[in-house]
Amino acid sequence: MSEREYQQCTQCVMDTTDSAIVFDDNGVCDHCNTFNTDILPNWKTDEQGWRELQVIVDKIKAEGKKKDFDCIMGMSGGIDSSYLLYLAVEKLGLRPLVFHVDAGWNSQQAVNNIEVMVDKLNLDLFTEVIDWEEMKDLQRAFFRSGVSHIDTPQDHAFFATMYKFANKYKVKHILTGANYSTECIRNPKEWMYFQSDSIQIKDIHKQFGERSIKNFPLTNILWHKVYLPYFKNIKVVTPLNYMPYIKEEAVELLKTRFGWQEYPQKHFESRFTRFYESYWLPEKFGYDVRKVQYASLILTGQMTRDEALERLKTKPYDPENVHHDFEFVANKLDMSVAELQACLDGENKTYKDYKNQESIYNVGAKVMRKLGLVRGGKR
Ligand SMILES: [Zn+2]
Repeated sequence: MSEREYQQCTQCVMDTTDSAIVFDDNGVCDHCNTFNTDILPNWKTDEQGWRELQVIVDKIKAEGKKKDFDCIMGMSGGIDSSYLLYLAVEKLGLRPLVFHVDAGWNSQQAVNNIEVMVDKLNLDLFTEVIDWEEMKDLQRAFFRSGVSHIDTPQDHAFFATMYKFANKYKVKHILTGANYSTECIRNPKEWMYFQSDSIQIKDIHKQFGERSIKNFPLTNILWHKVYLPYFKNIKVVTPLNYMPYIKEEAVELLKTRFGWQEYPQKHFESRFTRFYESYWLPEKFGYDVRKVQYASLILTGQMTRDEALERLKTKPYDPENVHHDFEFVANKLDMSVAELQACLDGENKTYKDYKNQESIYNVGAKVMRKLGLVRGGKR
C-alpha cells in the first residue's frame, strides 16, 4: 500500500488516520460534507422537531396503554443514556422498562449514576449480568485476533439484550440515546467495524476462544433490522435528535438534579472501553476516537476547532498510570501481561481478515439512505 500524505480537514479535525477520508478542493472532508448536505437540512431541533416528537410520544403512549411499560431503554450510566432517561420520564411522561447490561467492567461512576437516577426517578432496573467466563473468553479472543474493534463483545451484548427484552416484554418502541449533536460523525468502519455482526464474532471466537459460548446474548442483523421492525413492528426512536441537546448543559443538569458524576471522556463509563479507546486503539492502530468526538462537537457548535487541536496535543491516556490499566485489564481477563503485550505488538488485522456480513450491511445502509431512514452513519 502506498503511503498517503498526511492531511487534516480544514473544518473539523478528522485526518488521514481515517484511510477512507476524502477531501474536497477546500480541504473539507467527506464527514463534514455529509453532515452539511445530509444531516443538517433534515435535523430539526426547534419547535417543529418537538412537535414531531410529541406525535411519536403520543403513539408510544397509546400503544402501551394496557402494558406495564410503553417503551424500553438501556442505561449505561453514560451521559446520553442518563439524559435520555431523565427526558423520557420527566419531560415526555413515558414509562420505560430500564435495563442495564453488566458486562463486568462498570466504573464506580457508572454504578453511582445508574443507582441515583433510577432511584430518584422511582423506577425499577432490569439488570442482565453477562456470563463472565464467556465474556472473558470473547474479549481475549478479540485481543488475540489483532482486529481494532475489540469492544465488540461488550457492545454486542448490549444490543442483543435490548432486542431480547423488547421482544420478551412485547414493547414496541426502543428509545436510544443516539444523537447527531455529539455523534454526527461516526467512527469509520475501518476503526470500529459493526459490532452487531454475529458472523464475525463467531468466527473470531472459533479461532481464538477456549470454551463454548452458551449464554452470551447474540443477535443478528436480519433478526433486528428486518424481522423485529417489519414483522414484529418494533421500532427504534432517537428522542435526542428532536431538540437542542447540548452536552455541557446536559451534564450540569444531571449533576445538580441527580448527583450524577461526570466522566473525563465519552464512553469512559466502562473501564474496558476507557482502556480500549484511550490506549489500545491509538497505540496499536493510530486511531484516536477523540478526533471523531471533537469533530462532532465542532460541527454542532459546541467546541472550536482550535480548542480541539489544542486538546489533541496531549496523549489520550495518562502515560504515568497506563501500566496500571494494562495490568488491570490483563489480570481481569486472566491473561498474563506478557500475552496482552504480545497482542499489542502483534500484526494488525482488520474485519476483512475474518468472516463477516459486510455486504449485507452495505445493502441495508444503501436502502435505508435511499429511503431517508438514516442520515450520515458509518462509512
Ligand atoms: Zn471534516
